[in-house]
Amino acid sequence: MFSIGDATITRVEETNLPSYPLKDIFPEFTDAHMAEHKSWLAPHHYDADKGLIRLAVHSWLLQVGGKKILIDSCCGNNKAKPGRPFWHMLNVPYLERLAAAGARPEEIDLVMCTHLHHDHVGWNTQQKDGKWVPTFPNARYVFSKPDVDYFSKVDADPKEGPAELGTFRECVVPILEHGRADLVSGGPYRLNDFIEIDSAPGHSPGHVFFKLESKGKRAAFIGDVWHHLLQVYYPDWNFPKNSDAAQAKVSRRKVLDYCASSGALVFPGHVGLPFAGRIEAAQKGYRPHFEP
Ligand SMILES: [Zn+2]
Repeated sequence: MFSIGDATITRVEETNLPSYPLKDIFPEFTDAHMAEHKSWLAPHHYDADKGLIRLAVHSWLLQVGGKKILIDSCCGNNKAKPGRPFWHMLNVPYLERLAAAGARPEEIDLVMCTHLHHDHVGWNTQQKDGKWVPTFPNARYVFSKPDVDYFSKVDADPKEGPAELGTFRECVVPILEHGRADLVSGGPYRLNDFIEIDSAPGHSPGHVFFKLESKGKRAAFIGDVWHHLLQVYYPDWNFPKNSDAAQAKVSRRKVLDYCASSGALVFPGHVGLPFAGRIEAAQKGYRPHFEP
């Protein structure tokens, strides 16, 4: 558990597994990079035997001001993930882990998605009597409007849909139809006394990040602005699958600048152990401080 002023933040794990070949994800990566970064890459950020980067998938349970807030909701169980064997047809006791972290589904006040990719919306809904209904029955769900607009279009296009492996229909549309969603555009947008939402588009059209402040201490929930700590050292290295690759780099530098200048504790969506850390500006790029 992490503390930021009066807020507590607990990681709720879905998976933490070796996933993609490092060189498929970062074609820029050379033997010289390996020599420079070997000391920290394995075992928590790289599986050296398999040559695969390690990616965690988790939610952050944020408790502040008497509210229980779930940030990003992972892949969900029993979902087909073509091309992603490590996330395919999961059967993970995620809701039990969430309860152990301090929240039963009916206690969640807010679900906030940094963006609407399939691995960030999975537990928004669950199937009951053949219908997809909100998993968190008393929660408002905060979605980015540009993402809702974009994936609605993709989903309705018979050539491109269903969007995000079907998760837009299963995990986002039912929330909209139940009238549980609050759509936010642009930014910065002040959500409450503690949280500000700011835009960081590029990985998806409406990707946002969340700034938390309590008693002068700060945190940032950055979703997929970077997936891996190599992208902190090299902010121009994109993870594949961006709606706008050039904009993704601009947003990464914007968020890195914010994190470095504010001293915020950073909570990414996929970075391995210890899962959260700080950013320091360096001569070239930035340096992560995510020491286990
Ligand atoms: Zn992701």
